[in-house]
Order: sequence, then structure tokens, then C-alpha cells
Amino acid sequence: MKTVAFHTLGCKLNATESSSIGRQFSGRGYEVVDIDQPADVCVINTCSVTERADRECRQIVRRALRHSPEAYVIVIGCYAQLQPEVIASIPGVDLVLGAKEKFELFTHAGGFEKKTATKVAVSPIGDVETFGTASSIGFEERTRAFLKIQDGCDYTCAFCTIPLARGASRSLPVEATVAQAFEVAAAGYKEVVLTGVNVGDYGKKIDTDLLALLRTLVQVEGLERIRISSVEPNLLTDALLDFWFDHPKLCNHFHLPLQAGTDDLLKGMRRRYRTSWYSDRVYRIKASRPDAGIGADVIVGFPGESKELFEETYQFLVELPLSYLHVFTYSERPNTPAAGFADQVEPRIRFQRSERLRILSAKKRMAFWSSFRGREVDVLFEGERERGWMSGLSEEYVRVRVPTDQNLVNQIRKVHITHIETAACRGELVDTSLYSRDVSTIPSSEVIPCVSQVS
Ligand code: SF4
Repeated sequence: MKTVAFHTLGCKLNATESSSIGRQFSGRGYEVVDIDQPADVCVINTCSVTERADRECRQIVRRALRHSPEAYVIVIGCYAQLQPEVIASIPGVDLVLGAKEKFELFTHAGGFEKKTATKVAVSPIGDVETFGTASSIGFEERTRAFLKIQDGCDYTCAFCTIPLARGASRSLPVEATVAQAFEVAAAGYKEVVLTGVNVGDYGKKIDTDLLALLRTLVQVEGLERIRISSVEPNLLTDALLDFWFDHPKLCNHFHLPLQAGTDDLLKGMRRRYRTSWYSDRVYRIKASRPDAGIGADVIVGFPGESKELFEETYQFLVELPLSYLHVFTYSERPNTPAAGFADQVEPRIRFQRSERLRILSAKKRMAFWSSFRGREVDVLFEGERERGWMSGLSEEYVRVRVPTDQNLVNQIRKVHITHIETAACRGELVDTSLYSRDVSTIPSSEVIPCVSQVS
């Protein structure tokens, strides 16, 4: 049997796309293997968010070729779209595919025959207008499916390369999304995570919106939970929140990118909301759903972030009832407005400030988890992440572990939280089984191995 290995950098969206390309290979009789195992084809799905993209890409190509010296190496993803010639110059790369071409990989790769020259197929990003329906589902283990409902972005945040790498905002039509949600449910997955670059922007050019999509998706039989990966704060309307609060299938978990806790910095970043709107959204959620998990992305060290402005952001975050932070250290990305701004912050200071926010995030996470001690949560069990312990996520995005019992895989069970630990909450199963579909009833052809490693 022929084999293909994937290595995926970056976000869940990349992971979803790798998984769906992995299914294209599986459908053609390939076995998906780990990147450190010998493989006939290696696919490297890159990210452009970090300044280390070039180094990381070179390292992974070398690593793949160490295990599979004869492998046909394909590089796709945001960095491939932005810097195809740089990637083509890496020894060992056979094919570089852009945003438009990556889902037609088999057409471009031909028979996966290695040639002397690297082939580059990358269209200008302005040509990427359609949404490939074949590319939307990705699976993580046996419990969660990722459904890409939107791609690209029409916003112009001053620090961001994503519109250059992924193009304009576009959406998967409602009917196609619902059909894929049925497919996910039929394959036995209990939770679907709706992903995209700017999920709240869903439907803009096809005369619908995220709320209309959710009204339809909650009716899909067999789907127990719908999680929304992230929504830009300006797109989190009262109507959307009211539906979210009212519908039990929508997870009690909100991820709202903040980026900075001062209006001066938000303005400089060209974000479309101000701090008062952001805190209003957070308090509105907490007023209706006091247990909600609320996460925020924050960028540290954006140009112009003085000591005072950083302290203002820090204080803003201290006071808000957030559950965790995703902290990003700002780095200048080529062709973005912010790269040319004056008042760049010294890298050493950026790292110190990031560290402070990471510590704050850990404290917030602990405080949030501690609020569940002695209480019960519904956990979707994934598998044995550490020996002797079965692990899963509650709908509030709390990681929970209980002593291993393989029958728990792909089950949603009530757990009484007894201990708060560094990496998870420990608990005991409550006797009542809420749901009972056994993963062994899923045909093995539908159980797709996880092909992604999200950094
Ligand atoms: S909303 Fe801003 S940060 Fe997010 S993808 Fe669009 S341009 Fe980038």
C-alpha cells in the first residue's frame, strides 16, 4: 500500500485542510502515516504567522527526507502562497501549491514522479474566489470533526498577512454545510467545530449569515454539540448571542479575538471595535451564562505599545472575566502596514511582556477551572492522552480526566470534578449515562486517523 505523511503548522484551519486532503489520499488507497515514518509522499502544510516560517519549513523538509529519502515532497499553505520561490529553492521540494491549487493536488502532482526541477503552481491570490466544497471536513481523533465553513478575510488589520495568503472572504453554501454536517453525524462524531478565518463573516457574499446557518445546523440529527472556533467581537451581535444562549447544542464556549486592551492600539491595528464594546460582549455573555468559557487572542509588542499602553492592556485583561488567553508575540510580517510603522517595540521587551500575559492566562485558567470544583460537567471523551487517564473536553472548554475506561471513547458523560490539576481537572464519572453510541458501531472506513499536528 502506498503511504502519505503530513506535517501541519499553524491553526486549526490548516489542520482541517490537511485532514481533508488526507481523506483524498485515503480515498485513492493511500495509508496516512506519521511524518517520522517512511512514506511515498510527504505533504507539508505551512503557516506564515511566525517569522520562523522559512526555517521551520526547511527543517521539516529535511526531517521528512531523513525518514523517506525517495519521497515526493509537496509544500502547501499560507507560506507557500506568499513565498513560493523561497520554498522552491529548498533542496528536496518537488511541488509548491498555492491557495487555489492545494485542493487539486492530484492534478498538479501527476504521478508523483520526482523531477530535477521543482514545480510551482501558485495563482495570484486575487484569483481565489470560490470555496472548494470537497475541502471542508477534517477529523480529530474519533470524537470531534472540524467543518470549514468560511475562508479568507476582507478586513485589513495592520499586522495580518492572512488576506494576502488566503484571499477574500468566501463561504461554503448553507446546503453544502448542512450536507457535510449530516455526513459528520452519520460517521458518529458528536461534536462539530465550525472553523474559518473570520467565521462571524460567514455568508456575506451568498446572502445569508452565521445566525441563519446555525438555525439550520442545530436541526441536524445526531450532532450533539456545535462549537464555534472564534468570532470577531464586532460581528457578535445581540441576535447571535441570544440564539447561542437559547440553544443547548451550541457549546457554552466563546472565543473572541481581542488583540489589545487599549483603544489607541486597537485603532493602530485597524480593528473594528473598541474596548468598551469588547467588555460589553464579555459581560453580556457572563450575565446569561455565568459558567461560559471565554477565550481571547492578544498580540503583545505591536508598534507603539508603550509601557503605559501595555499596562493598560494588562489591567483590562486582569479585570475581565476571561477563562484563558492565547498570547502572540508581535513580529513584523512582510507587506503589512504595521511592518513600516514607527515605534517598533524592542524584541526583548515583547518577549518579557508576552511572558507576563502567559502567566496571567495560566492564573485565569486555574481560577476558571477551580469554579467547577465540586460540580458536574458534561465531558466528550477523546481517548487516553496519558497512561491510565482518559481525557476529554467539557462544553465550556475545560479539559477533564478520569481513570481510563476504553468504553468512554466518543461518549458524553457527566463528571463530578474533584481536583484541579495543572493540565486538567480530575473527576469521577457520575452514574447517569447521557449518550451511549459506541465508537465500535462506526464503520472503520469512516474513522479517519488524525493527520495533523497543530502547534
Ligand atoms: S480579521 Fe484581521 S486578524 Fe483576522 S484574518 Fe482578518 S485581517 Fe487578519
